[in-house]
Amino acid sequence: MSSVVLDKVTKVYPGDYLAVDRLSLRADDGEFLVLLGPSGCGKSTLLRMIAGLEEITEGDLWLDGQMANHLAPRDRDVAMVFQNGALYPHRTVRGNIAFPLEIARSDPSLVRERVTELSKALHIDETLDRRPGTLSGGQRQRVAMGRAIVRQPKLFLMDEPLSNLDAGMRTELRMEISALVRSLGVTTIYVTHDQVEALTLADRIAILNRGVLQDVGTPAQIYNDPATAFVAAFLNSQQLNLLAATVRTPQNQYVMLDFGPHQLTIAWSDPRAYAISQHTGGQVLVGLRPDGLAPVPETYEGPAFYGRVRALEYHGHEWLAYLECGMPAVPVPEPPDPRGRVNGEKNGTGKVAGLVRRLFPQRKEERQEQEQVGQHPNSGIHRRSDLIIRLGNRPVWRAGDAAKVGVDLSRIMIFTLDGARIDPPRR
Ligand code: ADP
Repeated sequence: MSSVVLDKVTKVYPGDYLAVDRLSLRADDGEFLVLLGPSGCGKSTLLRMIAGLEEITEGDLWLDGQMANHLAPRDRDVAMVFQNGALYPHRTVRGNIAFPLEIARSDPSLVRERVTELSKALHIDETLDRRPGTLSGGQRQRVAMGRAIVRQPKLFLMDEPLSNLDAGMRTELRMEISALVRSLGVTTIYVTHDQVEALTLADRIAILNRGVLQDVGTPAQIYNDPATAFVAAFLNSQQLNLLAATVRTPQNQYVMLDFGPHQLTIAWSDPRAYAISQHTGGQVLVGLRPDGLAPVPETYEGPAFYGRVRALEYHGHEWLAYLECGMPAVPVPEPPDPRGRVNGEKNGTGKVAGLVRRLFPQRKEERQEQEQVGQHPNSGIHRRSDLIIRLGNRPVWRAGDAAKVGVDLSRIMIFTLDGARIDPPRR
């Protein structure tokens, strides 16, 4: 059992490439923490620094309360499983799983017992005498997992272990990984770019983009109460509806989000009202998930948008409707990219850490510059102007219909123009 603390950890690769930027995060004893983010955001780099396979440029790593920056990998008691868990081809499944115990000179009866127990839990007990070359991809990953976990490490690190498997096998193995590591109580850090894996496996999810931690929380916190527009959009199985609105407070009666042809009113009793009203006269971004919108009858008097159904899309388990409502959809604001600072720097002193330190203060200025050149939502490129609505398994509308859509006000998310939440997320 073990805890992991990362304190302002930075990784700069040779060539001044900033891969992880001052990232602070902890995984508690026995926790299943998922690192989620687009490809290239620094997830594997972070995992490899925890394992000791990659040097930390700056910041501190603590394993179980012990400073671990300079601990050799073998002294960290960490087991790692990769995307294509390489096995010893000339050893049987039994020999592969037993290997870490054999080199630790464990008692042979204990080795037999552990291998039998684990192979049953991983559903590979029928394959114990076979060689890896005769196994399916799913079975090979199970063996790799068994070999990693057999000596009960303090920390289990998994780097996209399911991404080479087909969809059915992924779902099956996902449930087994979850059951196995939870039954063993081993602290696990699991890297993926797949939001479904993250939501289904994690105790907590940490979302990264361009080497920067964007948000961390339970799956429900991150989904329902995301810290930024980027996080909201990344954790969305359909596209997030993101609209620009002007904030008004007419006669101070309520707070109004004015979308042009449509308005939504937020009562002062709503805990978000005060924070939103601070932007009166200015513009904000409003995020609505397709499942926070629902068809309502013409007579519905609650908060609603109306428009014309442009298209319906069948997804097997549900229908999506695309509604033309006359409101411009805006692109999701990308969080600032710290990498340009390091990569663009020419006058290197040869001391990478010093360079990073010197460059950090520039960020605020550059952000202000970006704001000045204009990310105004109504001046940006509008990808589309449809509102996406989840209809469930019945297409209640037809293309061309006039339609009214009810808005669940408790589900709307309000961001500044650069994508930060206006009403602070609860954690
Ligand atoms: P992820 O796991 O999120 O896909 P990685 O941690 O593998 O991302 O990589 C983060 C960034 O660092 C990528 O842009 C990648 O190209 C770069 N990178 C990774 N390893 C090295 C390396 N050894 N040298 C230079 N750049 C690297």
